[in-house]
Amino acid sequence: MRIVLVGPPGAGKGTQAALLAENLGIPHISTGDLFRANISQGTELGREAQRYMREGNLVPDEITVGMATERMAQPDAEDGFLLDGFPRNIAQARSLDKQLEEAGLALDGVLDLEVPEEEVVRRIAGRRMCRKDSSHIFHAEYSKPAVEDVCDVCGGELYQREDDSEETVRKRLEVYHQETEPIIDYYREQGLVVTLSALGAVPEVTQRALAALRSGDAA
Ligand code: ADP
Repeated sequence: MRIVLVGPPGAGKGTQAALLAENLGIPHISTGDLFRANISQGTELGREAQRYMREGNLVPDEITVGMATERMAQPDAEDGFLLDGFPRNIAQARSLDKQLEEAGLALDGVLDLEVPEEEVVRRIAGRRMCRKDSSHIFHAEYSKPAVEDVCDVCGGELYQREDDSEETVRKRLEVYHQETEPIIDYYREQGLVVTLSALGAVPEVTQRALAALRSGDAA
């Protein structure tokens, strides 16, 4: 299965993507995580990406598309993948379509996670990520770790993302509305979009998404 997950920052894409990918037996490919891995390893790509990310802007397409393409070409992604954070504008969506078409492949569905704007700001302001594994995500109020700043799952240190400050979140939301939302209409014209509410408990949202994929709404 080849799926794209779309939604504003704070919709829970990272959390849901990890659970859905595991359930469907496909790799979770997150461009945000790939950039953060490059930043922590101090690569040239990471240094370049960080300049844009810390302002809440998109990283230029040449960098992003190259990195995403390389990841999608890995053997584990041969039979499918769940894309999280890519494509993020129309140019990236067209480039993905072209690549898939050339390989005789196509997307199976686009899951659009919806969440009210006030909730986005609340979720992101309290978000704490694990340094060891980006799928271990906590919240300072809603999903507290047993020991402050320590990951319950693996003991890694929890930290707040540099781009999770309120000011940068507002910028990211603006960029989302202007650049990313148009891809929902682009994919809707291809009959691929399933819109889901991202409100409710994490497992409820996962079940909702799996049911939508199974019922063929997104197939
Ligand atoms: P979120 O979905 O919570 O905003 P991500 O971890 O997906 O966060 O992305 C963080 C940042 O990484 C984005 O604000 C952007 O700067 C950069 N980024 C991630 N994916 C892309 C992409 N496809 N194109 C351009 N920039 C990207």
